Amino acid sequence: MNVLVINAGSSSLKYRLLNVERQEVLAKGICERVGSQEAFHKHGLDDNERVIDAQMADHDEAMALVLESLTHGPTAAVSSLDEIDAIGHRIVQGGKYFDRSVLIDDDVIAKIDELAELAPLHNGAALMGIRACQKHMPGKPMVAVFDTSFFQTLPPKAYMYPLPYELYEKYAIRKYGAHGTSHRYISERAASFLDEPLEDLKLITCHIGNGCSMSAIDHGVAVDTSMGLTPLDGLMMGTRCGAIDPAIVPFVMEHENLTGAEVNDLMNKKSGLLGISGISNDLRSVREASENGDERAMLAYDMYSNSIKKYIGQYIAVMGGVDAIVLTAGVGENCDKMRRMIFSGLQPLGIKIDLEKNKERGGERLISTDDSEVQIMIIPTDEEYMIARDTFDIVHEKIGVEGGVFVD
Ligand code: ADP
Repeated sequence: MNVLVINAGSSSLKYRLLNVERQEVLAKGICERVGSQEAFHKHGLDDNERVIDAQMADHDEAMALVLESLTHGPTAAVSSLDEIDAIGHRIVQGGKYFDRSVLIDDDVIAKIDELAELAPLHNGAALMGIRACQKHMPGKPMVAVFDTSFFQTLPPKAYMYPLPYELYEKYAIRKYGAHGTSHRYISERAASFLDEPLEDLKLITCHIGNGCSMSAIDHGVAVDTSMGLTPLDGLMMGTRCGAIDPAIVPFVMEHENLTGAEVNDLMNKKSGLLGISGISNDLRSVREASENGDERAMLAYDMYSNSIKKYIGQYIAVMGGVDAIVLTAGVGENCDKMRRMIFSGLQPLGIKIDLEKNKERGGERLISTDDSEVQIMIIPTDEEYMIARDTFDIVHEKIGVEGGVFVD
């Protein structure tokens, strides 16, 4: 089955066409700055990527370009849209409604729309992606895969905020988490790599890229996660501050004369590694500056690793132990220096990093010492594959079996 995975942002449309059975990526690309004069379209596999200047007023026009590139000319991956069997959409906010991926129908669309209040930029964009697909590929089965659904197992003591209870009742203010598809994928892969059932393991999963989040997964069930009502909470990130004293918000608004939207922007886009280093949100640039003696870059590095270390401690306490700590995403997969700093000093907790293995590159691998009680693992994440696999499973179950439009 060929599944088109769509990840629509407010001004971007990222896509990947996968053959699920062969786990093969047939094509991928992104339309960026959709709606602006500088819009462009990148299409093709890594060694064959083309950047095409293209005007696209909205997601609908972007989708038309994507489908054209997938089916026509030198970049074609399939000969017609008939060879795309189903579409999987990444949706950021599934609220309380979705604890798993679902086949998209009118009711699901209405709920995604209703939840846009919690994630205005993201859910609104996802709806544009869904509508564009409905227009250009009418009748094609579509599945919604939510960033939040994996965390619907959190107990109330983990997802509630100690605010007046009415705020929860009135506005559904609670922790929903994010990056759930990635945490689910790496936890499953980690169990398979260790050759143990996920249900027997206590895992701490760390998605550390530009956005960062961590989760405690106790016997296959997510029991806590660091992102909150929005992805701003928890760890220090590339440009997001993560958890701070909430009283800082009104203080800064008053003293810097900022509106709520402006302070939100400051915390989401101007903080984290960028805010502290004053150099970049990209850890490679911060690393280079810190190695050249830049003190703020060194501080940013220290704060970032310390923020992760503290969550490891929290989650060990929450689960009463841990069998493996799993790292993924740009920093988790690639930055040996950050990994060394995160795990330094954790030997008393039975967590020992092997400094030689830590320097090696590769795919799924262990970087703990042979005598470490806790395994430290790197698992490259693959959210698109997970979305395609959910789409495959649901389409088979709901349509393939009932003899609907999809015939395998
Ligand atoms: P996103 O959250 O946008 O998906 P990624 O998972 O791509 O982010 O991670 C981006 C981050 O990974 C950047 O901060 C980048 O500097 C960092 N990164 C990627 N490769 C390396 C590397 N070799 N060394 C250090 N940091 C790296």
